[in-house]
Amino acid sequence: MKLAPAIGDWRLSLSEKLDRVFGDNEAVKCALAANLSYFHDDPATLWWMFFAMAQGSYLQTGGRYVQGGSQRLSSALARAIRTAGGEVLVRRTVSHIALDARGQVDAVTHTARDGSDPQQVECRRVVGNAAPETLAALMPAPAAEKLKASYARQTPSASLFALTLGLSKPPREFGIEVYSTQLLPRDMKRLSDYAAGAALLAEEPGERMPPMSIVDYAAIDSGVPAPPYVLSVLGPDRLSNWDGSSTEAYRAKRGRWQAAIIRYLDSLYPGLADSVVATSFNSALSVRQYLNAPHGAVYGFAPAPQRSTHPIPRRSPRTVVPGLFLASAYAGFGGYSGVVQSAGVCADMILREP
Ligand SMILES: Cc1cc2nc3c(=O)[nH]c(=O)nc-3n(C[C@H](O)[C@H](O)[C@H](O)COP(=O)(O)OP(=O)(O)OC[C@H]3O[C@@H](n4cnc5c(N)ncnc54)[C@H](O)[C@@H]3O)c2cc1C
Repeated sequence: MKLAPAIGDWRLSLSEKLDRVFGDNEAVKCALAANLSYFHDDPATLWWMFFAMAQGSYLQTGGRYVQGGSQRLSSALARAIRTAGGEVLVRRTVSHIALDARGQVDAVTHTARDGSDPQQVECRRVVGNAAPETLAALMPAPAAEKLKASYARQTPSASLFALTLGLSKPPREFGIEVYSTQLLPRDMKRLSDYAAGAALLAEEPGERMPPMSIVDYAAIDSGVPAPPYVLSVLGPDRLSNWDGSSTEAYRAKRGRWQAAIIRYLDSLYPGLADSVVATSFNSALSVRQYLNAPHGAVYGFAPAPQRSTHPIPRRSPRTVVPGLFLASAYAGFGGYSGVVQSAGVCADMILREP
């Protein structure tokens, strides 16, 4: 009911809505959407209603961090499954999803990471967290085509780069005083410039920098051990920014961007560069390689505006393949909150089935 007054704006993008409200006051728009990469990488293709709900909730209730790191949440969920009599297998890769003659899911084959030791589990339901495109590749062709066709009007979400720094001193000694800081580039004059930032890592590093979010885990009671003090720097990235055909060339370019970002941070927080004792740089290509995410998407499907000429089907954990469910960002929206919500809906759906 709270959304009723906004119904007239249902189909707008974030850019369209902010233009209507703030005209050319770009500073206000940039302040309101400084953390845009938490949701998407381009205000012109981001659905206003999604932004309003997600950012509204973020601003009203603040961010949350799983104390000790998100592995603790995964471990707690695994414990709950074992306590309830279930079994949890890790470091296994699903290589095939079999269907019976009626097209209903009836078995899953999983292997060790190197493809050895195949094992089959018979089941009536499969809940997948990989992208539908990835799940389709594991099924017989007719079901794969049906599954892919049902998502044909959805585009993949944005991707991210993440540079994790280990510092010998607490970040507050260099002027980073809060948990989360948004850095907009010096040359950013309009919120629409954000989209250009996402494509920047395609080039060699120069004067221009992408928008970035910095998170200082020592600023809250995070439970992350220190020293080294972990500082996480992330920003928009695209798979097309990286050429993975030569590992050496990829690593070298990634290294040049890492050095440039550290130099940039040092210009804002003098002394920071000299305190860096450990680094790890993950790009959109790492997201594809390590999470098996096609297109490097980190938030499932893009939260695109609903257009009457091209309506996007409602997302759901239920798929067109009987017995196959999604409990992931692809069933609704991305980010931990979106995924946990979709997983809850998925569990309720399955428990209601006969
Ligand atoms: C750098 C970075 C920072 C982020 N920060 C935040 C944040 O602060 N807050 C927030 O809310 N969100 C954040 N996100 C986004 C959030 O992590 C994702 O939206 C969310 O994890 C998506 O969950 P998922 O279950 O849909 O997919 P994933 O978490 O990607 O899980 C899919 C899983 O499927 C597995 N898989 C794929 N294929 C197979 C196969 N064949 N067999 C077996 N397993 C397979 C993958 O290994 C992966 O573990 C961040 C993302 C990134 C990349």
